[in-house]
Amino acid sequence: MTARRSRCLAVDLDGTLLHSEPAELAIPGLSGVQYMSRTSADLLREIARRLPVIIATGRNAHSVGRVLHHLNGISFQGFVLENGLLTRPRLFSKGGPTRQDPWEPICRRLPRWRRLHDYENCLGLVFPESEAFPRAAVETALTEAGIAGHIRCETRKLFVYPTPPSKRVGIRAFNVEPFIVLGDEWNDIDLLEASPHPGTLASAHSDVRRTVQSKRGYCSRWSSHAGTEDLLRWAADIARSAFESQPRPYKIQPNGDSIP
Ligand SMILES: [Mg+2]
Repeated sequence: MTARRSRCLAVDLDGTLLHSEPAELAIPGLSGVQYMSRTSADLLREIARRLPVIIATGRNAHSVGRVLHHLNGISFQGFVLENGLLTRPRLFSKGGPTRQDPWEPICRRLPRWRRLHDYENCLGLVFPESEAFPRAAVETALTEAGIAGHIRCETRKLFVYPTPPSKRVGIRAFNVEPFIVLGDEWNDIDLLEASPHPGTLASAHSDVRRTVQSKRGYCSRWSSHAGTEDLLRWAADIARSAFESQPRPYKIQPNGDSIP
């Protein structure tokens, strides 16, 4: 008998579960401290008892590990990391053969930039404050090195992806239905579009809110931790209804089949 396709809740971290405003759970990172409220953690734990929860984030595995350290007791069924470049049922895979570093020619051309070494597939860089045109500098380095890359620039960081970043592609590797998706930024839009129950917060990017509204999903009227708690209560109601119609607990396998 063919196993049925699992449903999951896919949730972003920064700006969706985690915020810069202080709350009970403090999670230190390279760019400062992010916080999660205890109520949000409790709600997520309740959802995870009924529906597999997958973290879908731009962070790398080490960075997500720091978050999980503070979320003991919540069972996550998978991880989409580096904006879809890595998909894992467990956060850290067993060590494989060391491959050649494809980004070394770029780093060599930008000697004053600091590389973020924990990224496994994309290139993460912190550019010097004196760099007025970081994107242009990387475009030049890519052209000179003959390497194709997709650039995303943040306040002080810049990332280069070998393929277009897509959490939707990452989730597809699990072969699960993104039943509920919670996110707030550009990197969540393609996954929110694939979900029958997309949700976001008042502080989300306007394109994200538009996407969620167009799908008749849920836009919380609150921001920060109040918005997250509101969003998770909405998601918990949907998970409860789904669980009542399919009450068997199940786990996601790497190929996406569910195991009753
Ligand atoms: Mg986010």
